[in-house]
Amino acid sequence: MRKFEDTYRHKGLRKQLVDGLREKGISDEKVLQAINQIPRHYFLDTALDRIAYEDRAFPIAEGQTISQPYTVAFQTQLLQVKPGEKILEIGTGSAYQASVLAELGAQVYTIERQKALFDSNKHFVLKAKYPQIKFFYGDGFEGLPTFAPFDKIIITAAAPFIPPKLVDQMKIGAMMVVPLDEGEKQRMHRLTKLPDGSLKEEAFTAFSFVPMLTGRTGG
Ligand code: SAH
Repeated sequence: MRKFEDTYRHKGLRKQLVDGLREKGISDEKVLQAINQIPRHYFLDTALDRIAYEDRAFPIAEGQTISQPYTVAFQTQLLQVKPGEKILEIGTGSAYQASVLAELGAQVYTIERQKALFDSNKHFVLKAKYPQIKFFYGDGFEGLPTFAPFDKIIITAAAPFIPPKLVDQMKIGAMMVVPLDEGEKQRMHRLTKLPDGSLKEEAFTAFSFVPMLTGRTGG
């Protein structure tokens, strides 16, 4: 059984990571504080313990990645999370991003298409701390119609297009933060649903994500 410990060394490295994110332009102190609270090394293989607080993506199971902290911070900042909001996440992966949203007080509904990753989150280490994270095994392109509409939607894989069913599951005034494919890279977008149901689109800088794929695997 793995022993999870958040030592002074980890806390010190985390503080340095947060200072680095601030220098890179992340200005929302609530987001920075959430990152400062969450032991990122818990989400990684023990072999990566020493480097868990470097600002880079790391491999998790099934050829997937835990996003770079800067990317998590950037997407979370764009989402303007408020306590009590219902947020749908596509691409649970390690559940690190979901934890950041939960730490900000959101009700999180997160979907993963890979059975092995979904199953590994059955023993999610921070389950008792964040009971408001609900895990689903499914295809994110379908969303979660039963739980819709959502205040916010965050997609943490490279989307080939704006998934129409997810747009249907946004409240009026809701935002979706999504990296949209442009070949090698993806440009981060924030979409806001206007009262007439149309979308206001804002485009930001480029990032690099694993692809958002249709269907489920391993079930
Ligand atoms: N948010 C994650 C990072 C995930 S990497 C974290 O914090 O660790 C992207 C994840 O999206 C992968 O686990 C991948 O399997 C998943 N994914 C890709 N396409 C998907 C889809 N259509 N529905 C749900 N999950 C998907």
